Amino acid sequence: MSMHEHAQTERNEGQATQTHQPSMTAEIICVGTELLLGQVVNTNAAYLGARLADLGIGVYRNTVVGDNHARLQAALAAAANSCNLVVLSGGLGPTDDDITRKVVADYLQLPLQESQSAVRDIEAFLSHFSIEMNEKNRKQGFFPEGSLVIPNANGTAPGCLVDKDGVAYLLLPGPPAELQTMFEREVEPLLRGRSGTRFESRVIRVSGIGEAQLETAIQEFVDGQMNPTVAVYAGIGEASVRLTAAGVDRPDVAAALDSLHGAVKELLGDHVYGGEDDSLEKVVLRQLESLGLRLAIAESCTGGALAARLIAVPGASRILEEGLVVYSNESKVRRLGVDSKILQEFGAVSEESAIAMATKVAEGAGVEAGVAITGVAGPDGGTEEKPVGTVFVAVFLRGTTTVRRYRLPGDREKVQRFSVTFALELLRRSLLAEVVSQDEKKPAAT
Ligand code: ATP
Ligand code: MG
Repeated sequence: MSMHEHAQTERNEGQATQTHQPSMTAEIICVGTELLLGQVVNTNAAYLGARLADLGIGVYRNTVVGDNHARLQAALAAAANSCNLVVLSGGLGPTDDDITRKVVADYLQLPLQESQSAVRDIEAFLSHFSIEMNEKNRKQGFFPEGSLVIPNANGTAPGCLVDKDGVAYLLLPGPPAELQTMFEREVEPLLRGRSGTRFESRVIRVSGIGEAQLETAIQEFVDGQMNPTVAVYAGIGEASVRLTAAGVDRPDVAAALDSLHGAVKELLGDHVYGGEDDSLEKVVLRQLESLGLRLAIAESCTGGALAARLIAVPGASRILEEGLVVYSNESKVRRLGVDSKILQEFGAVSEESAIAMATKVAEGAGVEAGVAITGVAGPDGGTEEKPVGTVFVAVFLRGTTTVRRYRLPGDREKVQRFSVTFALELLRRSLLAEVVSQDEKKPAAT
């Protein structure tokens, strides 16, 4: 059966004619006994699933199989029976338990053939580490006859793509860094060229709204969606909405996407903080920079995680003055100059202490923006009045303070991650308000 006929069958079976049916459907087979035993988490399946979906290739099943000849053969047979692209990960290495190339060749009844260019690449890669190629390494340069060999920029094992009887078999290395680089650099262009369908997507990043509220807000778009599709992905304290349109013609696809993108963004209002390449920390830094403000941070229960997230963004030095981890009460007094009476009277985890921390850290650093986080991350330290997960975030902005109390779910790490995101969100909102009030102060243009 050719790929075209296969697509035809799919279409006849499908119910909806107004959707753009994927012309390629895939099954993912991850090879490795360590995956079955739970020693390695199968992140390749998650990665490949997301990437293939982005390319508009429908993934119908994914399978994990151990390093076993007969069982891998059986998995190949089952996959080839139900899709026209079989994506395999793992088992391309030089050792005897790396059987993928051999099993695929046997299954397809194709001989393994040496690729001279692959062998040269392997030799070159090994020479970087002063390793001389042996027979086992050389084995990695053998592929089923007729394969297109795919270079591996990060390792020795090249991948390959081989077609037989209307089904394409894509063999990728197991180590995630190798698989991902190979997929993005080499495989995506190949698959794009084959699938005929154009896919475009836009991402809308949101914060300050729960996942369920988000989905409810855009329910009309989520319901009955066909093309473009609307998907909500929840993160920790933030979420994103991905809109994907499929079609044959590029301008049509873009137009369908643009109008939906505008409508969804409008509906979500100021919950929207950015697009695909944005992050809350980048956005907050941009806001501060455009207002000409520098920032100082005082953290207790998050141990510097807020500062780390901001400093991970290139150029943060233009905006961030300092970040202090003031963990003990004494440190809050000694380093920041928080009044010890405030700590005694209200406790370190309180609205009053958070406000004092944000104010003092900004004043001490001589900047106009300060943010502070203080809370009970757990597992110990909770009280009836302030249970584990109670966190206060305060923002000081040009003399005005804003404070929020949160009751965050999860373990210590989760509470910390939520706290950092919510601090960024409170900063973002405060800075948005600042822009508005600044605009109001400006005389109206004549
Ligand atoms: P190598 O040359 O390293 O042997 P390989 O292509 O033969 O590469 P495997 O031997 O199957 O790949 O796996 C090598 C390592 O890659 C595993 O030990 C594991 O750490 C990682 N790995 C393999 N498969 C997966 C997967 N599905 N998800 C995440 N990591 C994986
Ligand atoms: Mg291996």
